[in-house]
Amino acid sequence: MADQQKLRVAIIGAGPAGLGAAIEFGKLPFVDFRIYDQATVLREVGTGISIQPNTWRMLDVMDASRNISPDEIFRPADHHSVQHRKYSESSTCTRVSFGSTKGTFVKYRSIAPPAILSVVRAFAFPEHKISYIGRTAYRGIVPTAEILSIPNFPDGVTFWHGPTDWVYTCNLNGGNYEITVNAKESADVARVSWGEKATLEEFQRPWKDFGPTVQAVINKVTDVQKFALFAGPRLSSVVARGAVALVGDASHPLSGAFGNGAGFALEDSYALAQSVAWAHRRGHTLKDGLTLYDCVRSPHYEEMYKILDAFAASDAILNEKDFSFDEAVAHTIRGKWGAEHFWLYEYDIQDVWKKAAEAEDGRRVALDTSHRESITVKFAS
Ligand SMILES: Cc1cc2nc3c(=O)[nH]c(=O)nc-3n(C[C@H](O)[C@H](O)[C@H](O)COP(=O)(O)OP(=O)(O)OC[C@H]3O[C@@H](n4cnc5c(N)ncnc54)[C@H](O)[C@@H]3O)c2cc1C
Repeated sequence: MADQQKLRVAIIGAGPAGLGAAIEFGKLPFVDFRIYDQATVLREVGTGISIQPNTWRMLDVMDASRNISPDEIFRPADHHSVQHRKYSESSTCTRVSFGSTKGTFVKYRSIAPPAILSVVRAFAFPEHKISYIGRTAYRGIVPTAEILSIPNFPDGVTFWHGPTDWVYTCNLNGGNYEITVNAKESADVARVSWGEKATLEEFQRPWKDFGPTVQAVINKVTDVQKFALFAGPRLSSVVARGAVALVGDASHPLSGAFGNGAGFALEDSYALAQSVAWAHRRGHTLKDGLTLYDCVRSPHYEEMYKILDAFAASDAILNEKDFSFDEAVAHTIRGKWGAEHFWLYEYDIQDVWKKAAEAEDGRRVALDTSHRESITVKFAS
C-alpha cells in the first residue's frame, strides 16, 4: 500500500499502553505509526508489577509473554496469590484472608512521567482535572536474604494492613524483595510525580504503630522512591475530536487503584487497534472505529469507578465509627479487598470486543434494511 494512503498514527508515550498500541498497530499493514516518548533514557523504576490473568492474556495475544524471563517471575511456594495480614502492636501476625486471583509478580522497567498526567488528555478534554488524592506510595528493593532473615517472615505476596495504610512485601526473584508502602501524606508531596527519591525519614514515619515484623522490614530499606498518587473523575468518553483516542492511564485517571493498570493499558491498545481495523475492513470512517472503541472501553471504566465509589463509602464509615485498630483493619479488608471486583482480573477483552463489533454490525444492517424499506414504502405510496 502506498505510504500516502496509509493511516498515520502518532502514539504518545512508550509505557505499557503505547508499547501495546505499537505492537497491535504494527500488525495492520494500512497503518503507519510513530511512537514518541519525552524520556531520553530508559531507566528502572525499581518495582515489581503484578500480572493478573487479563494481563497475561494480552501479553500472549501480543506475543510479548515469551520475552518475560521465568527468573523474573515470582509465585509463592504455597501457590496462593495474595495474602492480607493485620498487624497491631499488641497482636501477633494473623493471616486474615486469601485473594483468589492468580496473579504473578514480575520486575518492571519504566520511564517517567506517568500517563495519568497526560498532556493528550488535557488537549482532548481541557476541562477535565486531576488532583493529588492525599496518598503516596513509596517503594524500595532489598536483597531477599535480608528480608528472609527476619524471623517467621512469610515468603509470599503480602499486604500488611493498618486501618488506613498498608505495607506490601513481595519476592521479585533474582535476589530482590520489593517493599511498597501506601500512606496518607499531606499535599506538599504532590509536586513529586513518579519515581523521585525519598528520604528514609519520610519513608519510615507512617509505620511507627505497626508491629515488629513490619518495623524490621522497613528498617531494611536503604533506598526509596516515592510516587504521589493522582486521580480525577471518569471521562465521559475515551475518544475526542474524531481522531484522538486515549489509552492506558490517560483514559482512566484512577491512580492505580486496582494494581492492574498495565493490564487495562494493554486491553485498551488491543481494543483500539481492533476497532480501527474493523472500520478499515468495512470501509467505515476512522471516527466510526473510534466510536466502537469508546463503546467497548467507556462502560468498562464506568464499572470500575462504581467500585471506587464503594471504596469511598467504606472509607466514610471508617471515618465515622470509633473502631479499634483490629476492627478498622477488618472493616477495610472487608470493604476493599473482597472478591467483588475480581472480575476485572478475569475480564476477556477479546470476547467483549468481538460481541461489541457484532452488535454494531447488526445495528448497521438493521439500520440499512429499515432505510431501504422506508425508501420502498415511499416509492410505493
Ligand atoms: C504505586 C503503583 C503501583 C502499581 N502497581 C501495578 C501493578 O502491580 N500491576 C499493574 O498492572 N499496574 C500497576 N500500576 C499501574 C501501572 O503502572 C500503570 O497503569 C501503567 O504503567 C500505565 O501505562 P501507561 O502506558 O498508560 O502509562 P505510563 O506507564 O505512565 O507511561 C507513560 C509514558 O508516556 C511518556 N510521556 C509522558 N508525558 C509525555 C509527553 N508529554 N510526551 C511524550 N511522552 C510522554 C512517559 O515518559 C512514559 O513513558 C501501579 C501504579 C502505581 C502508581
